[in-house]
Amino acid sequence: MKVASVLIPLPVSEAFDYEVPEGLDLMRGDQVAVPLGPRLMRGVVSEVRETTGSNRRLKPIDHALDEPRLPERTVDFVEWAARWTLSPPGEMAAAALKGLRAPRPRPERRVRLVGERAPVRPTAARTAVLDTLGERAMSGAELARAAGVSSGVVKGLLDEGVLEVIVVEAVAAFDPPRPDHAPAALNPDQAAAADAIAAATQAGGFAPFLLDGVTGSGKTEAYLEAAARTLQADPTAQILILLPEIALTQALIARITARFGAAPAEWHSGIAPPRRRQVWEAVAAGRCNIVVGARSALFLPYVDLRLLVVDEEHDGSFKQEEGLVYHGRDLAVARARIEGATVVLASATPSLETLWNARSGRYGWLKLDARHGAARLPDIALLDLRTCPPDPQTWLSQPLREAIGETFARGEQTLLFLNRRGYAPVVLCRACGHRMTAPDTDSWLVEHRYTGRLVCHLTGFTMARPRLCPACGVADTLVSVGPGVERVEEEVRQLFPEARTAVFSSDTVPDGKSARALIQRMAEGGIDILVATQAAAKGHNFPLLTLVGVVDADLGLRGGDLRAAERTFQLLTQATGRAGRADRPGRAILQTWTPEHPVLLALAAGDRDAFVAAEMAEREAASLPPFGRLAALILSGENAVAVEKLARDLAGSIPNAERLEVYGPADAPLGLVRGRRRKRLLVRADRDVDLQGFLRAWLARVKVPGSVRLSVDVDPYSFL
Ligand code: ADP
Repeated sequence: MKVASVLIPLPVSEAFDYEVPEGLDLMRGDQVAVPLGPRLMRGVVSEVRETTGSNRRLKPIDHALDEPRLPERTVDFVEWAARWTLSPPGEMAAAALKGLRAPRPRPERRVRLVGERAPVRPTAARTAVLDTLGERAMSGAELARAAGVSSGVVKGLLDEGVLEVIVVEAVAAFDPPRPDHAPAALNPDQAAAADAIAAATQAGGFAPFLLDGVTGSGKTEAYLEAAARTLQADPTAQILILLPEIALTQALIARITARFGAAPAEWHSGIAPPRRRQVWEAVAAGRCNIVVGARSALFLPYVDLRLLVVDEEHDGSFKQEEGLVYHGRDLAVARARIEGATVVLASATPSLETLWNARSGRYGWLKLDARHGAARLPDIALLDLRTCPPDPQTWLSQPLREAIGETFARGEQTLLFLNRRGYAPVVLCRACGHRMTAPDTDSWLVEHRYTGRLVCHLTGFTMARPRLCPACGVADTLVSVGPGVERVEEEVRQLFPEARTAVFSSDTVPDGKSARALIQRMAEGGIDILVATQAAAKGHNFPLLTLVGVVDADLGLRGGDLRAAERTFQLLTQATGRAGRADRPGRAILQTWTPEHPVLLALAAGDRDAFVAAEMAEREAASLPPFGRLAALILSGENAVAVEKLARDLAGSIPNAERLEVYGPADAPLGLVRGRRRKRLLVRADRDVDLQGFLRAWLARVKVPGSVRLSVDVDPYSFL
């Protein structure tokens, strides 16, 4: 009898076995429908084997699905990723099938010429339609638009029988990228980097690189050239470029389209499901060469993946923390290893993990030193707020105000950076000191003036700003404390009423379309002063921007978790790197109460090496990443007693292990979220310890009750 192991999307750690019915020929990667209780579920075959005389009665597979087979290495990757992150393998497999959830797009109606028939009355409009159409078939609306006529003209030709309607299957066609379409003339550093990457993709085999260069040094240009050469050598090669934010995809897609004369496929949660299905099928059939996407694009069924690029590799957004918990950058490296492909991690401020891998020789290290062309890095000045504090209830100090004024007078742009959404981060009662929080969550409510509401950024809870303090009941005592971007913009409008200002945050640009519009307006000089959160700090190119003001450079340094200093350094480097990208010199002013802080001193000196050396030394002394490894267990549930008990059970059943410590259980910093109590345990291990093996052995010793959720976070980024 033949038995197949099938990965089904359930929170279990194993594949399920089913009998393969006589006559059904199955292979690893095939998609099948299998019975589970009363239902049929979609699953992926992970293994098929012969068994003799098993006394277990297995249910048979119901039928094979008429869907493409997942490539062998995609299944390898899914299984590896599940083991690495301690996630259910069936749920990882489901991530690889996400593109198939939507029905196929409906067949399209197109019009085409009927033989050689000419119109009875050949008006100019009719001739334009026929000339535009030629031998092709296209949609009537598109044809009318392309010919510059009204749709009535097309309809008239249809009625007359000159044109006819045909129905065609909607298959996404991706024009093959043309490597020679519009190459850039690379500078010597860029050429050396592109050579090294292209040589690796052509040689084949796993080859990881760090592409390390300041913002604007031309990293994108260098990896696009490497991609072109990869395609030149092998026109079937597939290339995946991962970006941390959906907002960055449009600019890159435009660049790729200009470079290769063909648009790449786009993949992220903002893409409509029918389109996603088309991309999925095109990737699986090898009909699509270049994919630009967010981290979930890692799970597409590539058949010939030769090159992966993780742009802005240091960015914390690559870490997915909801649902499947994984780090997109780390899985990209794993996918490259499994595919025998080249992976390029690009950044101006690489993560300490990646720098450590580059230093120790595990990754090739490609450096671009200068900015391309005339662009220079901005001068960075620390502004000591102790000597020139802003006036009460304002946030911009006198020197920064003057700098904004000068920049505006020259017709250049200013970016004011503050990584805080809304109007004020805290609302409290002047009478009793009560801080407004969401009713079932330990996080403060943030005031949003544009909408007039108080919002919990963690859970999305919102309420109108009350007139009475909910704690003491006194009226009109609530005050807004501290600035958010909306409040800084209010100040800017008062100071420079004639300037065109805008706010860039996830509240003012909630979707890709509005983000694109605002970025374009800024790039074209339609905004004088942009107040922005980190959403605008990354990757964009604003030629007229010459001043970056960081409103609160100390913000990220407070509170402190493992990567607080690193993140602050990266974010502020990115933010200040926005200035002076074209031929106008830029400058950056950082307002701070602690100008002696090593992170800020290193920033002001433009000395990344000094920062990295100091931070590495601290991590090494504490054996923290990249010198050791971490994993977190987070327990949560509405029943505090059950959460408490599981925490105690876990603490009481820690397997013996050397060079490894368990900290906790402790209340999580956010001890209450959406009414659920939360507790955390943290594991630290030396690098050579089998951390996943330890976690598996540990979790096997406890029984998790249905009322408590236990989530494992290998290499945690959030310590809340
Ligand atoms: P990075 O990715 O390192 O931030 P980019 O590749 O985006 O840098 O380059 C910054 C700017 O310089 C872009 O406008 C890009 O078009 C331009 N540029 C980079 N390299 C070249 C080159 N070799 N020739 C012409 N323009 C270039």
